[in-house]
Amino acid sequence: MEEWKDILANCVSDSQSLYRYARIDKKKIEKVIKKYPMRINPYYLSLIKKRGDPIWKQCIPDILEIQMQTGRKDPLKEKRYSPMEGVVHRYKDRVLFLISDTCAGFCRFCTRKRSVGRREEVLSQENAAAAFQYVRRHKDVRDVILSGGDPLTLDDDRIEYYLKNLRQINHVEIIRIDSRTPCVLPQRITARFCAMLKKYSPIYFNAHFNHYRELTRTSRRAADMLAESGVVLGNQAVLLAGVNDDVSTLKKLFEGLLTMRIRPYYLYIPDAVRGTYHFRVSIARALKIMRGLIGRTSGLAIPHLIIDLKHGGGKTPLLPKYIVKRRGRRYVFKNFENKIFYYADIS
Ligand SMILES: *Cc1c(COP(=O)(O)O)cnc(C)c1O
Ligand code: SF4
Repeated sequence: MEEWKDILANCVSDSQSLYRYARIDKKKIEKVIKKYPMRINPYYLSLIKKRGDPIWKQCIPDILEIQMQTGRKDPLKEKRYSPMEGVVHRYKDRVLFLISDTCAGFCRFCTRKRSVGRREEVLSQENAAAAFQYVRRHKDVRDVILSGGDPLTLDDDRIEYYLKNLRQINHVEIIRIDSRTPCVLPQRITARFCAMLKKYSPIYFNAHFNHYRELTRTSRRAADMLAESGVVLGNQAVLLAGVNDDVSTLKKLFEGLLTMRIRPYYLYIPDAVRGTYHFRVSIARALKIMRGLIGRTSGLAIPHLIIDLKHGGGKTPLLPKYIVKRRGRRYVFKNFENKIFYYADIS
């Protein structure tokens, strides 16, 4: 068996096995995981150093998940923009394929908490064929994103099936893969998998690291292998209260990612998803954090801060305010050091 499958076969998913690693009230855990399943693989579990640390918070169930009833199950209304099973078409030129419903570990803050881990099922052969047909008919689509769940829970052959079919569609210029495995299960990035990806270039790959402590030697190796196969790497992080909602943590994370050839792409304000409110960070706080980053590290290390607006409003960038006043063509700027600068624009 490949190493990653062996690791996945040994996930912690019930209160008894969790108890062996961490003495937490089994009854409480059971209550939570009845609603939102638990899955922690031994690799990710081994990154926990102490109770309540940033790794712990991302994977160990918390009673707050069921105590707070605020939020919606599907705030982004992905269902409304789903023309068929497994396909989300929200932006004209981009289509999302949800090809797996499971992950290499369940994150307690997940936006798709409503569905992740409910079923193992992936797109049936007919649904997949219909999805390809859909893309073929929509000539505006130039970017197809394989997502989930985590698409890399599928076998190489199954992933190749998607890549091969999509590559045969002329107007699909780029294919993206969104996966948390470089972070939670870097052993998934094998030489065989990378050699396969290389055939379908250009492939963009968005990883999902949220804390610098996730940047291990193993994940660095995974990133190296992907980069050396010509895959362009990015990172989508979520701003999470108590995990990474401060300037120094994010600075270390983003700078560390750059040394792994992973370019920070997006930093998300957590979506208003029920069961994740204890992770939420206010817009004001997020903007303050961005202000603390911009100008104080390489521009390459700065992702776009994004809020995915409710009711399907879509991804919307948020930027700290640098223009503090404008009168006609005269602008007043406050720079990254909070010093005032005047600027006269052309007429
Ligand atoms: C995020 C997302 C995309 C990709 O958006 P980009 O801004 O291009 O990264 C595409 N479709 C859906 C439904 C999405 O949620
Ligand atoms: S890997 Fe992604 S889809 Fe899976 S539980 Fe984590 S955040 Fe959700």
